[in-house]
Amino acid sequence: MEEKSSNETTDLPSLDASGLAEFIRFDCCPRYFKLRFEGDEESCHKWPEAFKPLSPLLYGAGKKIEEKKAQELKAKAADYRDLSDFNPRTDDWESAWKKTLQTIMELLECSLSAKTETAYKPVLIYQAPMKGHIGVWDIKGIADLIGIWPIKNGKVKVRIFEIKSSWKEQTAHRIQVAIYVLLLTKGLGDFSSNVDFEGCVINKESDLDKLDAESLPSFRLEPLIQDVQRLLSGNGELYRIHQIALSEVAYQLSWRCDNCGFNECCVVRAIEKESIALLNLTRGEQKALKCHGILRLEDLASLKVVPNSDDQRPYNFKEIPALDPQKVRLLSADPVIGAKLDKLIQEPNSCYSEYDPTVHM
Ligand code: SF4
Repeated sequence: MEEKSSNETTDLPSLDASGLAEFIRFDCCPRYFKLRFEGDEESCHKWPEAFKPLSPLLYGAGKKIEEKKAQELKAKAADYRDLSDFNPRTDDWESAWKKTLQTIMELLECSLSAKTETAYKPVLIYQAPMKGHIGVWDIKGIADLIGIWPIKNGKVKVRIFEIKSSWKEQTAHRIQVAIYVLLLTKGLGDFSSNVDFEGCVINKESDLDKLDAESLPSFRLEPLIQDVQRLLSGNGELYRIHQIALSEVAYQLSWRCDNCGFNECCVVRAIEKESIALLNLTRGEQKALKCHGILRLEDLASLKVVPNSDDQRPYNFKEIPALDPQKVRLLSADPVIGAKLDKLIQEPNSCYSEYDPTVHM
């Protein structure tokens, strides 16, 4: 795998783990990535609702659940360290990360020298700021909770927890944990060989009755770590998106967008451009249309002439002659959009017939 040179990567924005988790949650939407991490050209416009990725109400509810779950676990832990004071928003990230790392190192050394008869209970660390470099990107974030168990079989168990207000565990949450594991492994350097890392997502349904590592939920970290490394590498999807201009990235307006803070900005831009993104087409379907020069609703609508709406006689859309027979023939043979071509041409045609009588001849 060919690595990018430092010149190619110095202009990259710094990423945060929760933003990357959201990118995954929104089906790896390239426009989300651009707006979240490189969105200066849109954020200077007035979007009253956009650029607020989480409403204060939702954020408040999520925070309450996080604190409640952390308190439930605290009551069963051997010790509990709240690192909220290492606040990277008031301090700086570098110094917050150094203090976090120092605290973790001290606790790990304690665990390594723990006597075998020590109760097998973890020390919990709440709100741990982290930062580092993965692949070609600088990345930071605050881990909700870290558990450090006393030494057993020659290793110290460290489990990184994400606490979520959702009912189900999602891949996006696991990815966030995998990012923190990678950052901590790198931060600990050679010392990490003494550690067995584990990942855990706690949601509304999680049973926190016992704090044994075995009874808490967990997942296999390795595949997620590989996913993160691939995503953040110089040949990964994020670097590919970074190289495309915001106005050129493909995006799909779908039900997922209802929960996205950039919804307003995306819908307005799609309407202004009369983009085919408005048709709920997948990015693959849009790409197939783009290959045939179809970018706007009008490009689709003008492939066939639909009978005037005053004409009440029934008609078969498939039998209506194409205005550009060669293009329609090629599009019909396309494996990605061929089967739904007539439906696609019909949709913008019916929109236009409502507003623009010139569409019908
Ligand atoms: S609203 Fe939809 S298209 Fe826009 S950034 Fe969010 S997920 Fe992507």
